[in-house]
Amino acid sequence: MRYISTRGGISPITFKETVLEGLAPDGGLILPEDLPRLSSEEVASLKGLPYPDLALEVFRRFIDDLPLEDLKGLVEKAYASFTHPEVTPVVKKGPLWILELFHGPTLAFKDVALQFLGHLFEYLLLERGEKMNILGATSGDTGSAAIYGVRGKKNLAIFILHPHGRVSPIQALQMTTVTDPNVFNIAIEGTFDDCQAIVKQLFSDLEFKKRYRLGAVNSINWARVLAQVVYYLYAYFRVQEAEGVSEVRFSVPTGNFGDIFAGYLAKRLLPEGIERLVLATNENDILTRFVNQGDYSVREVVPTISPSMDIQIASNFERYLYYLWDEDPERVRQAMEQFSKTGRLLFSPQERARVQRDFLSLSVTQEETLATIRRFYEETGYILDPHTAVGVCAGLHFKDHLPIICLATAHPAKFPEAVRRALGFEPPVPEPLQGLAEKPKKVVILPADPQAVRQFIEENAI
Ligand SMILES: *Cc1c(COP(=O)(O)O)cnc(C)c1O
Repeated sequence: MRYISTRGGISPITFKETVLEGLAPDGGLILPEDLPRLSSEEVASLKGLPYPDLALEVFRRFIDDLPLEDLKGLVEKAYASFTHPEVTPVVKKGPLWILELFHGPTLAFKDVALQFLGHLFEYLLLERGEKMNILGATSGDTGSAAIYGVRGKKNLAIFILHPHGRVSPIQALQMTTVTDPNVFNIAIEGTFDDCQAIVKQLFSDLEFKKRYRLGAVNSINWARVLAQVVYYLYAYFRVQEAEGVSEVRFSVPTGNFGDIFAGYLAKRLLPEGIERLVLATNENDILTRFVNQGDYSVREVVPTISPSMDIQIASNFERYLYYLWDEDPERVRQAMEQFSKTGRLLFSPQERARVQRDFLSLSVTQEETLATIRRFYEETGYILDPHTAVGVCAGLHFKDHLPIICLATAHPAKFPEAVRRALGFEPPVPEPLQGLAEKPKKVVILPADPQAVRQFIEENAI
C-alpha cells in the first residue's frame, strides 16, 4: 500500500514514511493510493473478532511495510492500556446505542489512536536509530492523550504547551501529574492562541526543527485516522448481532473531522452496513453549514461547554474533499488555495446532494446540550459528557427505523461543571481521576515568549 497527497505534489510513499511525515510536504494530507474494500466473505470472517484482533485485520490492509508479528505486538500493547475487556464496548441506552470510547488512560476517545501511535513512533524510531521531540499546544483533551501515548517511550520526548490557568482543573492535573523523564508540561502565561502561535513559530524555524528533530502527533496523522476506523466496524458488528439488521447509522460529535472521517472510511471499507453518518456540531457549525447548505465559510470560534469541538477550520476536512471530487488532487489544491485567501468554499446543489448521501448534520446549542444530558439521565440513568450529548441530541433528531450508534467521546467525569449545570450534581469520579490533586506534579511556567520555550527545549530535548 502506497500513500499519496490530497494535493498531488508528492510521489507515492510508504506507510512508515506517512506516519513520520504527518503532513505531506506539499501542504496536503496523506491518503492511501487506493482504498481497499472488504468482500462479504472477509466481513464474515471479521465479525466475531475481539477488538485487538479486529484492529490487526484492519491495519494489515493498509500497512504492508511492517512485519505482521511486529504490528500485532504494537496493537496488543496499545489496547492493553484500556480498562474495559472489550476496549470500546457498545451499550444500549433507551432508543440508542452508545459506543463508549473513553476506557483508555485519559478517559477520552483520543486515547484509541494515541495509545497506538505512541508505540508505533517508538518502534519506527528505534528501527531507524533516530530520536524525536514531540511539540504541541493543547486546550484540553489532546494534550493529555498525547502525553499518555508518549510517556515512558524510548527515543521519544514530548513538550506540551497549555495556557496557564485556562484549561479545566481536571485536564491540567491529568497532564501535570505525569512525571516521566520524557514528558515536559509547559504552562504558558497567556491564551491557547499564544501557545499555538509559539508552536507554529518554532516549527517554522527549519534549522531549529531539524536540529531538535521536532515532530507532531496532531489529528491529521494518518495512523490516528486509521486507528479510529476499527471501532466503527466493531460497533457495527455488535449492533448487527443484537438487532439482526443489515444497516446502522452513526452519530459523531465533530470538531476537526478526524473521527467522522474514520467513519467515512469504515463506510467505504464495508460492502454495506453504514447507511449514513450524522455529523453533530455545537454552535461552531461550519461543517453543518457545509452539509446542509453547501457553505463552508469560517466564522469566529465561539467557546462552548463542549470545548474539544470549538473548531472552525476542520483539519481533516480536506481528506473528504479529495473523495468528494473523485480523487482529483488539482481540484483540491486550487480549492484550498482559494479557501486560504477567502475563508470560504461554496458547493453546487449537485455536490451537496452527493455530500448528503454520506452525511446528515445538526448543530446543537448549549441549551439543547444541557437539556439532552438532563433528559437522557431521567430516561435511562446514564450520564453523558457534553460532547457525547451533542451527538446524542443529533442522533435522536435523526432517529427513524435504523439503529443509531452514538459515539461517546469522553467520560462525563472529565466535565463535571457541565454535568452539574444539567443535573445539579457532579458525576462519580472514576479510579484514574481520583486523588490527582495530591499527586506529584511536573510543570514549568513560562512567559508567552517563543524564545523562552525555545531555550527550555534546547535544555531538555533528547
Ligand atoms: C477531539 C474531540 C472531539 C472531536 O473529534 P474530531 O476528530 O476533532 O472531530 C469530540 N469529543 C471529544 C471529547 C474530543 O476530545
